[in-house]
Amino acid sequence: MQKLAAGNWKMNGSGAALQELLALVEAHPAPACEMLICPPATLIASAAGMTARGPLKIGGQDCHAKASGAHTGDISAAMLKDAGATYVILGHSERRTDHGETSDQVKAKAEAALAAGLTAVVCIGETEGQRDAGTTLSVCGAQLHGSLPQGASAANTVVAYEPVWAIGTGRTPTIAQIAEVHAFLRAELVKALGEDGQGVRILYGGSVKPSNAAEIFAVPHVDGALVGGASLKASDFGAIVAAL
Ligand code: 13P
Repeated sequence: MQKLAAGNWKMNGSGAALQELLALVEAHPAPACEMLICPPATLIASAAGMTARGPLKIGGQDCHAKASGAHTGDISAAMLKDAGATYVILGHSERRTDHGETSDQVKAKAEAALAAGLTAVVCIGETEGQRDAGTTLSVCGAQLHGSLPQGASAANTVVAYEPVWAIGTGRTPTIAQIAEVHAFLRAELVKALGEDGQGVRILYGGSVKPSNAAEIFAVPHVDGALVGGASLKASDFGAIVAAL
């Protein structure tokens, strides 16, 4: 399976930041893994235009569950696709927290993404309280099964395991903790999708940086990374790409 290095710029980046994409492609014209950057929606069309002929793919950070209509401020999966995106991140913990998104809603959005021809990056992960309470696997399992779109396959769906307490904090789970969750998610994906579940990429996300990327990528069933802060600089993200 081809691994995936995905960057989530979150609500960061103006037009000038697109230079980072050019620097990234220049430094990694033929990466061994797939490279994806998900800039804010305002930059998707320009980013996709600038990188159209290179190895870097562009994605969105959210979409609406409906294809069009009276939904002020929202963006449909078809619109992301029209702007040049090929992926969309769905159910990120910041959206589950800031916008109260439930797994049911994430599933509906992911189904809209697949219908539009996008690959869905479905995010799941436990809070620190849930980890302390020993419920990490049950929480992640419930989010996974609740959020996976109908029609999910290795070709159209990626799962990102992002412990909420590791996002933007500089803290990461131990290697053993990452291994435990990823092996569990693989088994759950096979339960849900049969043999095809073996091919669904499971990304780790949460404080991935150049200094810890190689160690995390060596963990079985870690098939790439979803990177926040360190994806904003081409040199940092490039170092993570090189570690995959
Ligand atoms: P950080 O890499 O900044 O911890 O963010 C992770 C994340 O939320 C990616 O979606």
